[in-house]
Amino acid sequence: MSNQVVKFKDVTKILYDSLGFDRDDETQAVLNVAARAICPDYGTRLLPWRVHIFHRAQGGFWVCVNRECSYRDSVLCDAESDWGFGALWFRQRDKCKCEAPVFELFACHECGASYLLAGLTLGKSAHLVPRCAIWTDDFSVDAEPDSKTDNENIIPTGTVILSPDRQDPTDRYLRIEDGRVYDNAPLDGGNFVRIRLDMVHSTLSCCSGAADSSLVPQHYGPPFFMGATLPTFVEEVTEPLDKAGLPMGGRRAITFSDSRQGTAGLAAKLQRDAERNLTRSFLYHAVQEDNGLDDLKRKILNQRLEIFTQINDPIFDEDIQSIKAQLSGRKEPIPWS
Ligand SMILES: [Zn+2]
Ligand SMILES: [Zn+2]
Repeated sequence: MSNQVVKFKDVTKILYDSLGFDRDDETQAVLNVAARAICPDYGTRLLPWRVHIFHRAQGGFWVCVNRECSYRDSVLCDAESDWGFGALWFRQRDKCKCEAPVFELFACHECGASYLLAGLTLGKSAHLVPRCAIWTDDFSVDAEPDSKTDNENIIPTGTVILSPDRQDPTDRYLRIEDGRVYDNAPLDGGNFVRIRLDMVHSTLSCCSGAADSSLVPQHYGPPFFMGATLPTFVEEVTEPLDKAGLPMGGRRAITFSDSRQGTAGLAAKLQRDAERNLTRSFLYHAVQEDNGLDDLKRKILNQRLEIFTQINDPIFDEDIQSIKAQLSGRKEPIPWS
Protein backbone atom coordinates (compact mmCIF):
# COMPACT_ATOMS: atom_id res chain seq x y z
CA MET A 1 0.00 0.00 0.00
CA SER A 2 2.81 2.40 0.88
CA ASN A 3 3.82 2.95 -2.75
CA GLN A 4 0.28 3.62 -3.88
CA VAL A 5 -1.25 7.09 -3.89
CA VAL A 6 -4.89 7.38 -2.85
CA LYS A 7 -6.97 10.50 -3.28
CA PHE A 8 -8.64 11.78 -0.15
CA LYS A 9 -12.12 11.37 -1.60
CA ASP A 10 -11.28 7.77 -2.50
CA VAL A 11 -10.39 7.14 1.15
CA THR A 12 -13.85 8.42 2.07
CA LYS A 13 -15.32 6.04 -0.51
CA ILE A 14 -13.36 3.07 0.87
CA LEU A 15 -14.35 3.88 4.45
CA TYR A 16 -17.94 4.97 4.03
CA ASP A 17 -18.87 3.90 0.53
CA SER A 18 -19.81 7.52 0.00
CA LEU A 19 -18.53 10.03 -2.49
CA GLY A 20 -20.12 12.98 -0.71
CA PHE A 21 -17.85 15.55 0.91
CA ASP A 22 -19.99 15.54 4.05
CA ARG A 23 -17.85 12.79 5.61
CA ASP A 24 -14.48 14.52 5.19
CA ASP A 25 -14.17 15.18 8.92
CA GLU A 26 -14.84 11.54 9.83
CA THR A 27 -12.33 10.34 7.22
CA GLN A 28 -9.72 12.72 8.63
CA ALA A 29 -10.41 11.46 12.18
CA VAL A 30 -9.97 7.80 11.14
CA LEU A 31 -6.70 8.62 9.36
CA ASN A 32 -5.41 10.50 12.42
CA VAL A 33 -6.19 7.57 14.73
CA ALA A 34 -4.68 5.08 12.27
CA ALA A 35 -1.47 7.15 12.13
CA ARG A 36 -1.18 7.13 15.94
CA ALA A 37 -1.94 3.44 16.48
CA ILE A 38 1.19 1.38 17.19
CA CYS A 39 1.58 -2.40 17.32
CA PRO A 40 2.53 -3.22 20.94
CA ASP A 41 4.72 -6.17 19.90
CA TYR A 42 6.76 -4.67 17.07
CA GLY A 43 6.36 -0.91 17.60
CA THR A 44 5.27 -0.40 14.00
CA ARG A 45 2.58 2.07 13.02
CA LEU A 46 -0.74 0.81 11.77
CA LEU A 47 -0.98 3.33 8.94
CA PRO A 48 1.63 6.07 8.63
CA TRP A 49 0.58 8.41 5.85
CA ARG A 50 1.79 11.52 4.11
CA VAL A 51 -0.39 14.06 2.40
CA HIS A 52 0.37 16.17 -0.67
CA ILE A 53 -1.73 19.31 -0.92
CA PHE A 54 -1.67 21.79 -3.78
CA HIS A 55 -2.71 25.39 -3.36
CA ARG A 56 -2.89 28.17 -5.90
CA ALA A 57 -1.76 31.70 -5.03
CA GLN A 58 -4.71 34.09 -4.91
CA GLY A 59 -4.02 36.91 -7.35
CA GLY A 60 -7.07 38.96 -6.41
CA PHE A 61 -10.84 38.76 -6.00
CA TRP A 62 -13.44 39.99 -8.49
CA VAL A 63 -16.81 41.18 -7.31
CA CYS A 64 -20.21 41.68 -8.97
CA VAL A 65 -21.58 45.21 -8.37
CA ASN A 66 -25.19 44.01 -8.06
CA ARG A 67 -26.01 43.69 -4.37
CA GLU A 68 -29.17 41.74 -5.28
CA CYS A 69 -27.07 39.24 -7.27
CA SER A 70 -28.51 35.72 -7.00
CA TYR A 71 -25.05 34.11 -7.30
CA ARG A 72 -23.84 35.35 -3.91
CA ASP A 73 -22.58 32.76 -1.47
CA SER A 74 -25.03 32.19 1.40
CA VAL A 75 -22.49 33.72 3.84
CA LEU A 76 -22.64 37.00 1.90
CA CYS A 77 -26.46 37.03 1.98
CA ASP A 78 -26.59 36.47 5.73
CA ALA A 79 -28.50 39.07 7.73
CA GLU A 80 -25.38 39.60 9.88
CA SER A 81 -23.21 40.18 6.80
CA ASP A 82 -22.27 43.76 5.97
CA TRP A 83 -21.38 42.80 2.40
CA GLY A 84 -22.78 45.44 0.06
CA PHE A 85 -21.92 43.87 -3.30
CA GLY A 86 -22.85 40.76 -5.30
CA ALA A 87 -21.10 37.45 -5.97
CA LEU A 88 -17.38 37.05 -5.27
CA TRP A 89 -15.23 35.44 -7.95
CA PHE A 90 -11.76 33.97 -7.51
CA ARG A 91 -10.67 34.62 -11.08
CA GLN A 92 -10.79 37.71 -13.22
CA ARG A 93 -13.96 38.10 -15.27
CA ASP A 94 -15.76 41.07 -16.75
CA LYS A 95 -19.36 40.01 -16.18
CA CYS A 96 -21.09 38.09 -13.43
CA LYS A 97 -23.45 35.21 -14.17
CA CYS A 98 -26.23 37.72 -13.31
CA GLU A 99 -24.90 39.88 -16.22
CA ALA A 100 -23.78 42.76 -13.98
CA PRO A 101 -20.23 44.12 -14.38
CA VAL A 102 -17.49 42.65 -12.18
CA PHE A 103 -14.57 44.66 -10.76
CA GLU A 104 -11.54 43.92 -8.64
CA LEU A 105 -11.81 44.06 -4.86
CA PHE A 106 -9.64 46.42 -2.82
CA ALA A 107 -9.59 47.15 0.91
CA CYS A 108 -8.87 50.22 3.00
CA HIS A 109 -5.47 49.62 4.56
CA GLU A 110 -6.65 51.28 7.75
CA CYS A 111 -10.01 49.59 8.50
CA GLY A 112 -10.39 46.85 5.89
CA ALA A 113 -13.57 48.28 4.30
CA SER A 114 -14.23 46.81 0.85
CA TYR A 115 -14.10 48.83 -2.37
CA LEU A 116 -14.11 47.99 -6.05
CA LEU A 117 -11.93 49.77 -8.59
CA ALA A 118 -13.33 50.35 -12.06
CA GLY A 119 -12.15 52.19 -15.14
CA LEU A 120 -14.18 55.23 -16.20
CA THR A 121 -14.51 56.28 -19.81
CA LEU A 122 -15.82 59.77 -20.40
CA GLY A 123 -17.30 60.57 -23.75
CA LYS A 124 -20.86 61.36 -24.76
CA SER A 125 -21.77 59.43 -21.62
CA ALA A 126 -19.84 57.97 -18.72
CA HIS A 127 -19.28 54.21 -18.63
CA LEU A 128 -17.63 51.94 -16.12
CA VAL A 129 -15.28 49.48 -17.78
CA PRO A 130 -13.07 46.67 -16.48
CA ARG A 131 -9.53 47.73 -15.76
CA CYS A 132 -6.30 45.81 -15.99
CA ALA A 133 -5.29 44.03 -12.82
CA ILE A 134 -2.61 45.87 -10.88
CA TRP A 135 0.60 43.94 -10.56
CA THR A 136 1.77 43.69 -6.98
CA ASP A 137 4.70 42.15 -5.28
CA ASP A 138 3.98 38.90 -3.39
CA PHE A 139 5.14 40.68 -0.25
CA SER A 140 2.80 43.67 -0.59
CA VAL A 141 0.46 42.19 2.05
CA ASP A 142 3.17 42.81 4.64
CA ALA A 143 4.18 46.23 3.38
CA GLU A 144 3.73 49.19 5.70
CA PRO A 145 2.19 52.24 4.02
CA ASP A 146 5.08 54.68 3.55
CA SER A 147 3.70 57.94 2.37
CA LYS A 148 0.78 59.56 0.66
CA THR A 149 2.47 59.27 -2.70
CA ASP A 150 1.75 55.53 -2.56
CA ASN A 151 -1.98 56.29 -2.82
CA GLU A 152 -1.51 58.25 -6.00
CA ASN A 153 0.54 55.45 -7.47
CA ILE A 154 -2.00 52.78 -6.72
CA ILE A 155 -5.12 54.62 -7.96
CA PRO A 156 -4.33 55.79 -11.45
CA THR A 157 -6.31 58.46 -13.22
CA GLY A 158 -9.34 57.27 -15.14
CA THR A 159 -10.18 54.96 -12.27
CA VAL A 160 -13.11 55.30 -9.88
CA ILE A 161 -13.70 53.78 -6.48
CA LEU A 162 -17.02 51.97 -6.04
CA SER A 163 -18.73 51.34 -2.74
CA PRO A 164 -22.25 50.18 -1.79
CA ASP A 165 -25.02 52.77 -2.23
CA ARG A 166 -26.15 54.84 0.74
CA GLN A 167 -29.71 55.49 -0.38
CA ASP A 168 -29.01 59.23 -0.55
CA PRO A 169 -28.63 61.81 -3.37
CA THR A 170 -24.91 60.99 -3.78
CA ASP A 171 -25.81 57.53 -5.16
CA ARG A 172 -25.27 56.91 -8.87
CA TYR A 173 -27.12 54.51 -11.15
CA LEU A 174 -25.27 51.92 -13.18
CA ARG A 175 -26.96 50.26 -16.14
CA ILE A 176 -26.21 46.56 -15.91
CA GLU A 177 -26.16 45.84 -19.66
CA ASP A 178 -23.41 48.29 -20.65
CA GLY A 179 -22.05 49.87 -17.46
CA ARG A 180 -23.38 53.33 -18.31
CA VAL A 181 -23.46 55.68 -15.31
CA TYR A 182 -26.39 58.01 -14.59
CA ASP A 183 -26.43 60.77 -11.98
CA ASN A 184 -30.16 60.40 -11.34
CA ALA A 185 -32.65 57.57 -11.55
CA PRO A 186 -32.89 56.99 -15.33
CA LEU A 187 -36.25 57.13 -17.04
CA ASP A 188 -35.40 54.78 -19.89
CA GLY A 189 -35.75 51.04 -19.41
CA GLY A 190 -33.10 48.56 -18.35
CA ASN A 191 -31.76 47.06 -15.20
CA PHE A 192 -29.91 49.35 -12.83
CA VAL A 193 -27.93 49.05 -9.65
CA ARG A 194 -27.44 51.92 -7.23
CA ILE A 195 -23.84 52.45 -6.29
CA ARG A 196 -21.56 55.10 -4.85
CA LEU A 197 -18.72 56.50 -6.95
CA ASP A 198 -15.67 58.29 -5.59
CA MET A 199 -13.31 59.91 -8.05
CA VAL A 200 -10.55 60.55 -5.53
CA HIS A 201 -9.27 58.75 -2.53
CA SER A 202 -9.67 61.72 -0.19
CA THR A 203 -13.49 61.58 -0.21
CA LEU A 204 -13.68 58.06 1.21
CA SER A 205 -15.32 57.95 4.62
CA CYS A 206 -15.04 54.34 5.83
CA CYS A 207 -12.89 55.37 8.80
CA SER A 208 -11.22 58.46 10.28
CA GLY A 209 -7.92 57.48 8.63
CA ALA A 210 -9.43 56.80 5.19
CA ALA A 211 -8.14 59.94 3.50
CA ASP A 212 -4.54 59.11 4.46
CA SER A 213 -4.84 55.37 4.06
CA SER A 214 -4.30 53.46 0.84
CA LEU A 215 -6.48 50.96 -1.00
CA VAL A 216 -4.75 47.63 -1.31
CA PRO A 217 -5.57 44.86 -3.79
CA GLN A 218 -6.27 41.52 -2.16
CA HIS A 219 -3.39 39.48 -3.56
CA TYR A 220 -2.13 36.56 -1.51
CA GLY A 221 0.94 34.75 -2.73
CA PRO A 222 3.17 32.06 -1.24
CA PRO A 223 4.69 34.38 1.43
CA PHE A 224 1.23 35.04 2.85
CA PHE A 225 0.09 31.43 2.83
CA MET A 226 3.36 30.16 4.25
CA GLY A 227 3.41 32.79 6.97
CA ALA A 228 -0.25 32.91 7.96
CA THR A 229 -1.91 29.64 6.92
CA LEU A 230 0.76 26.97 6.96
CA PRO A 231 1.63 27.14 10.70
CA THR A 232 -2.06 26.71 11.62
CA PHE A 233 -2.41 23.93 9.11
CA VAL A 234 0.68 22.08 10.36
CA GLU A 235 -0.61 22.35 13.94
CA GLU A 236 -3.64 20.31 12.87
CA VAL A 237 -1.45 17.49 11.59
CA THR A 238 -0.99 14.58 13.98
CA GLU A 239 2.22 14.91 15.95
CA PRO A 240 4.90 12.27 15.20
CA LEU A 241 5.13 10.20 18.36
CA ASP A 242 8.90 9.78 18.31
CA LYS A 243 9.93 13.43 18.00
CA ALA A 244 9.24 14.87 21.43
CA GLY A 245 10.87 18.21 22.27
CA LEU A 246 11.22 19.47 18.70
CA PRO A 247 9.59 22.69 17.41
CA MET A 248 5.99 22.06 16.31
CA GLY A 249 6.27 18.60 17.93
CA GLY A 250 8.46 17.43 15.04
CA ARG A 251 5.88 18.16 12.35
CA ARG A 252 7.45 19.45 9.17
CA ALA A 253 6.37 21.23 6.03
CA ILE A 254 8.31 21.31 2.78
CA THR A 255 7.57 24.07 0.30
CA PHE A 256 8.79 24.69 -3.22
CA SER A 257 9.20 27.87 -5.17
CA ASP A 258 10.24 28.42 -8.76
CA SER A 259 11.26 32.02 -8.17
CA ARG A 260 14.78 32.77 -6.99
CA GLN A 261 13.87 36.31 -6.00
CA GLY A 262 10.74 35.06 -4.22
CA THR A 263 12.75 32.50 -2.30
CA ALA A 264 15.27 35.12 -1.18
CA GLY A 265 12.44 37.42 -0.08
CA LEU A 266 10.70 34.58 1.70
CA ALA A 267 13.83 33.56 3.57
CA ALA A 268 14.19 37.12 4.88
CA LYS A 269 10.50 37.26 5.79
CA LEU A 270 10.58 33.95 7.69
CA GLN A 271 13.66 35.09 9.60
CA ARG A 272 12.05 38.43 10.45
CA ASP A 273 8.77 36.78 11.49
CA ALA A 274 10.64 34.32 13.70
CA GLU A 275 12.47 37.19 15.43
CA ARG A 276 9.22 39.10 15.82
CA ASN A 277 7.58 36.08 17.41
CA LEU A 278 10.51 35.62 19.76
CA THR A 279 10.34 39.28 20.82
CA ARG A 280 6.57 39.10 21.29
CA SER A 281 6.67 35.93 23.37
CA PHE A 282 9.58 37.32 25.43
CA LEU A 283 7.57 40.48 26.18
CA TYR A 284 4.48 38.42 26.91
CA HIS A 285 6.23 36.22 29.44
CA ALA A 286 8.15 39.16 30.94
CA VAL A 287 4.93 41.03 31.79
CA GLN A 288 3.19 37.86 32.98
CA GLU A 289 5.93 37.06 35.49
CA ASP A 290 5.21 38.24 38.99
CA ASN A 291 8.27 40.18 40.09
CA GLY A 292 6.88 40.81 43.55
CA LEU A 293 9.02 39.87 46.55
CA ASP A 294 7.98 37.07 48.83
CA ASP A 295 8.64 37.27 52.59
CA LEU A 296 11.85 35.28 52.47
CA LYS A 297 13.36 37.37 49.66
CA ARG A 298 12.37 40.56 51.48
CA LYS A 299 14.02 39.31 54.68
CA ILE A 300 17.27 38.46 52.86
CA LEU A 301 17.34 41.84 51.11
CA ASN A 302 16.76 43.65 54.42
CA GLN A 303 19.62 41.72 56.02
CA ARG A 304 21.98 42.52 53.14
CA LEU A 305 20.97 46.17 53.29
CA GLU A 306 21.73 46.28 56.98
CA ILE A 307 25.18 44.71 56.48
CA PHE A 308 26.10 47.05 53.58
CA THR A 309 24.95 50.07 55.56
CA GLN A 310 26.97 49.02 58.60
CA ILE A 311 30.17 48.54 56.54
CA ASN A 312 29.67 52.13 55.35
CA ASP A 313 32.01 51.86 52.36
CA PRO A 314 31.21 53.82 49.13
CA ILE A 315 32.05 50.66 47.21
CA PHE A 316 28.64 49.27 48.23
CA ASP A 317 26.65 52.41 47.32
CA GLU A 318 25.43 50.86 44.10
CA ASP A 319 24.31 47.66 45.84
CA ILE A 320 22.48 49.68 48.47
CA GLN A 321 20.62 51.65 45.79
CA SER A 322 19.70 48.45 43.97
CA ILE A 323 18.38 46.77 47.14
CA LYS A 324 16.38 49.85 48.08
CA ALA A 325 14.85 49.91 44.61
CA GLN A 326 13.89 46.24 44.84
CA LEU A 327 12.35 46.72 48.31
CA SER A 328 10.35 49.72 47.11
CA GLY A 329 8.71 47.49 44.46
CA ARG A 330 10.14 49.37 41.48
CA LYS A 331 10.51 47.05 38.50
CA GLU A 332 14.03 46.39 37.36
CA PRO A 333 14.75 46.72 33.64
CA ILE A 334 14.86 43.30 31.97
CA PRO A 335 18.03 42.79 29.96
CA TRP A 336 17.35 41.61 26.39
CA SER A 337 20.29 39.16 26.46
ZN1 LIG B 1 -23.90 39.05 -9.99
ZN1 LIG C 1 -11.12 52.79 6.12
